[in-house]
Amino acid sequence: MKVSKWYNNSDIRIEEIPTPSPGEGEMLVKVHSCGICGSDVVEWYRLPRAPLVLGHEVGVEVVEVGAGVSKYKVGDRLFIAPKVPCMKCRYCLKGNFPQCSEVKDRLPGGFAGYILVPKELVNNGCYLLPDNVSYDQATFIEPLACVIRAQRLALIERGQTVLVLGSGMSGLLHVKLADNKHCKVMATDINHSKLEMAISSGADYVTTANTDILEQLVQVNGTKADAVIVTTSAMSALGQAWEAVDMGGVVVLFAVPEPGKEVIVPFNDFWRKEIRIITSYYCGPSDIDEAIALISYGEIIVDDLITHRLPLEDTARGFQILLDGEEAVKIIVRPHEG
Ligand SMILES: [Zn+2]
Ligand SMILES: [Zn+2]
Repeated sequence: MKVSKWYNNSDIRIEEIPTPSPGEGEMLVKVHSCGICGSDVVEWYRLPRAPLVLGHEVGVEVVEVGAGVSKYKVGDRLFIAPKVPCMKCRYCLKGNFPQCSEVKDRLPGGFAGYILVPKELVNNGCYLLPDNVSYDQATFIEPLACVIRAQRLALIERGQTVLVLGSGMSGLLHVKLADNKHCKVMATDINHSKLEMAISSGADYVTTANTDILEQLVQVNGTKADAVIVTTSAMSALGQAWEAVDMGGVVVLFAVPEPGKEVIVPFNDFWRKEIRIITSYYCGPSDIDEAIALISYGEIIVDDLITHRLPLEDTARGFQILLDGEEAVKIIVRPHEG
């Protein structure tokens, strides 16, 4: 089978490897769709494990099950989590699943014809796709689950004003979810086509990122934001977040600057204002369940975010399009097409 192996963002190679066959408790699944995630192109995050096959936003079909697998059968349509928490360690017991210290098996990358699913993930990491959820839609399950978790941790609820800084894939999912919760939503980006997508995703107001966001926010909303969600690693967004968050509000660092970048936080100013700053990374099993339900019930429409569908051979081009940032929102690689 063919895999797309990532050495770095400018060196992605199509390589031929033997198609694995499932051992006891394992499964072989065919990759129909795999999304390129914003985190896939972050070199400092990915390089320590390179070279590797990336891709963790998958829609797959079971084509072979190993001995002892009874939970799934050939033909089942699945989303598979990239890793599963143990549910037993002190982090899991407190619901801090992304920090689980016992993760052993990771899902091999989805930019490949097939994936050999390890036993642990067969047992606890697979989710049957409802009939009305397509393989392409399945690629949104993991990113939406991360967004769901972030907004849950931030205690975002109906009636609040939510400012989303950055309207790429995750920013737009934040807009959609906050809109679904009946929040007042404002979004920014440096790119005009992204701002148009933010409007069609439910933002009540959008503005270019390089303007005085605070002034506009107060003008249209009357107050600062209850929650500011940072989905870009641009340093300027942090200053805007500190400025635009209201007293008692929260800044969610969904994306962070590169390692080593020094950030100044006005803690003295925040003290009496009781402004919370939280980070959010990855998601947990209940977030994945919720993401599947929201997509299946049509509560969150994702199809309009798909801008590119590419064959496996074009993975490198897909990475480049996402890095260029202009037109791309969601790029889906379809290993068995083209
Ligand atoms: Zn992702
Ligand atoms: Zn754990």
